[in-house]
Amino acid sequence: MELSQRITGVTGGGSDGWDVFYRARAMAAAGEPVVELTIGEHDIRTDPAILNAMHNAAVAGHTGYASVPGVTGLRDAVAKRLTERTGVKTSRDNVVITPGGQAALFAAHHATSDEGDVALYVDPYYATYPGTIRGVGAVPRAVVTTPESAFQPSFTDIAKQARGARSILVNTPNNPTGVVYDRATVEGIARACCEYDLWCISDEVYDTQVWDGAHLSPRAMDGMADRTLVVGSMSKSHAMTGSRVGWVAGPEAVIAELINLATHTTYGVPGYIQDAALFALEQGPALEARVAAPFKRRRQAAYALIEGQNLVKLIPSGGAMYLMLDLRATGLTGEAFANSLLDTHRIAVMPGESFGQAAAGHIRVAMTVEDAAFATALTQILSFAQEVTP
Ligand code: PMP
Repeated sequence: MELSQRITGVTGGGSDGWDVFYRARAMAAAGEPVVELTIGEHDIRTDPAILNAMHNAAVAGHTGYASVPGVTGLRDAVAKRLTERTGVKTSRDNVVITPGGQAALFAAHHATSDEGDVALYVDPYYATYPGTIRGVGAVPRAVVTTPESAFQPSFTDIAKQARGARSILVNTPNNPTGVVYDRATVEGIARACCEYDLWCISDEVYDTQVWDGAHLSPRAMDGMADRTLVVGSMSKSHAMTGSRVGWVAGPEAVIAELINLATHTTYGVPGYIQDAALFALEQGPALEARVAAPFKRRRQAAYALIEGQNLVKLIPSGGAMYLMLDLRATGLTGEAFANSLLDTHRIAVMPGESFGQAAAGHIRVAMTVEDAAFATALTQILSFAQEVTP
């Protein structure tokens, strides 16, 4: 029996530079001591107080079908948070709770593209972006950025690809680069959206992990609240990756349609998970700062190490859990470098090529092991770069 092209086409075929990741996983499973600096998962677990709230909610009986749009308290808490952080007045009717940011990305594209429509995304990109766009039947088109502009998309970069497109997906603070878009970039995105009549799908799942500068939401720019869908998540801000709880925030009419979509796809998020998310948000910024602190510390340590040499360059970044290292001076591709690093030092990093052509000759280092091990691994990465350079 034939499957649909839509489903078989989601991955786009090919390994997309993920071989090194799967090799590292296999080595670790075989008992080899691999330092894994690959995916964006904290080295701490969900705070016990949040787990308690989850347990209590389940025991109290919130285990049946939960409200499909999301429980009122959580929608209100998300709305309040967005209002406070972005200055854009947001109410519960602007928010639908989803099973994580990934489901929110899918839902947002579902709402904005018809079959065959072009949806823009910025290269380098978070691994699922093109597949998410293909998954709703749309056609992904890359806005390619450059290391020289810290991978920030300019108005001109977007304008070159914008004709005929329906939407643009942007992500600040950024995965894979760690870059926090500056005001000029966010204003450029807004201008492009208004001039070319694009929806803006703004992935802000790292909005609590900002070390330099400030998080600016495209939704807060002039003329953008009516055309922006913000994707949020509890995964990164509260170390709740496995709980699968996030949201889309946007115009009321879009949210109403997304609630219909949720009824026909996920049928909502478990009630005890939503209660735990509400409890977590009620703890305020102190808990978020505690979750973010290790990345801030490790980034500081990384700066000192990288400054001590001049071969490997750090893309100027200010947030998220990642460092993007420019290795082009070694003459190796990111993939070749990452593969040899894994073979010789048992350190696993992601080749830049896994995130698109713009990040070729780079590696992404996730700052997701404890401080001393992270500093040792980074020192080894930097000296390995010296060794392999002719
Ligand atoms: N967007 C970005 C940029 C991410 O890095 C991730 C997870 N790594 C997600 C969305 C999805 O996160 P989740 O589904 O866990 O909320």
